Amino acid sequence: MADKRDYYEVLGVSRGANDDEIKRAYRKLAKKYHPDANPGDKEAEQKFKEASEAYAVLSDADKRRQYDQFGHAAFEGGAGGTGGFDFSGADFSDMFGDIFGDLFGGGRSRASANQPMQGANLRTSVRVTFEEAVFGCEKELELVLKDECASCHGTGAKPGTQPVTCSKCGGKGQVVYTQQSLFGMVRNVQTCPDCGGTGKVVKEKCADCGGSGYISKKKKIAVSVPAGIDDGQSIRIRGKGEPGVNGGPRGDLLVEVRVSRHPIFQRQDYNIYSTAPITFAQAALGGEVRISTVDGDVLYEVKPGTQTDTRVRLRGKGVPTLRNKEVRGDHYVTLVVQVPDHLTGEQKELLRAFDRACGNTAEKKADEKPKKKSFKDKLKETFE
Ligand SMILES: [Zn+2]
Ligand SMILES: [Zn+2]
Repeated sequence: MADKRDYYEVLGVSRGANDDEIKRAYRKLAKKYHPDANPGDKEAEQKFKEASEAYAVLSDADKRRQYDQFGHAAFEGGAGGTGGFDFSGADFSDMFGDIFGDLFGGGRSRASANQPMQGANLRTSVRVTFEEAVFGCEKELELVLKDECASCHGTGAKPGTQPVTCSKCGGKGQVVYTQQSLFGMVRNVQTCPDCGGTGKVVKEKCADCGGSGYISKKKKIAVSVPAGIDDGQSIRIRGKGEPGVNGGPRGDLLVEVRVSRHPIFQRQDYNIYSTAPITFAQAALGGEVRISTVDGDVLYEVKPGTQTDTRVRLRGKGVPTLRNKEVRGDHYVTLVVQVPDHLTGEQKELLRAFDRACGNTAEKKADEKPKKKSFKDKLKETFE
């Protein structure tokens, strides 16, 4: 008892911590070190006990006062003469409800031995191109799947023998520890270490599966990737996960779809975005431009006087929705006016003529040699 750590230090709170802070600190530690979350870990168990004891004292105003005054001595027989410390008054119940809920996924009861149990889900991923995601495709995956061993029918016992009831847990698959001083109210249930929770022990192992009850085989699985699926979404294939236990159904296979980037198209939800270059003349005069879409090139009539960065909508050229592939998003195209460079002499002359017609004097200015660079010009050069 000499090395007992300070209760405040154990919970990692200050001496002035209020009830809420103490509760929060303990909840965090209890979750981390709870024996059910750390089966067989003695250190975790020790830490859990230590934290629980600290909480039992600091969450009780009277006991906390005594502890603040006398330290650990307050509860060590001699000091108060009460002969040991009674933890039963501490209220863990509401807290453990929460913690167990978190540990086991919202109160899902743990399957006890011999009960049919669905197999675990398996996860894998498949890569598709942008277009494959838009229009859907068929893919084939190769996976190693477990099947019930035909020789022992999944029992793992040598044919002709039967697994026997586990003597440690009496076939329950769980062992119950009652933690004397601290957990008068909370039973600590752990999966039986001898039978791993099945309640049965195999004496003579099946030679075909080595006693596991399963045979692993490489299998080809067809995956139907639906039109409209997006990067990161998963496809559930029922019954292609791990085999069930005690006649339970197989788990599912969850295939995450990874969509490769497209050089031109970007996608957001069901809409597609891209940019398309148009010439200065097309922008000024209007006319047809060719625009790439997932359905192939389309001709789009640009209005005369179109400014650069004008965004146009190609209705229904986006991604089909997962629910109904006839319903599609739109394709938004940003028209970018290209300023011509590397002009020929003739082209330059025409442009100057055009400029003159607009009432500008580009010719003069172009011939003028800049004597002194203005700040603005310098700035321009820097960014060119
Ligand atoms: Zn077998
Ligand atoms: Zn057992």
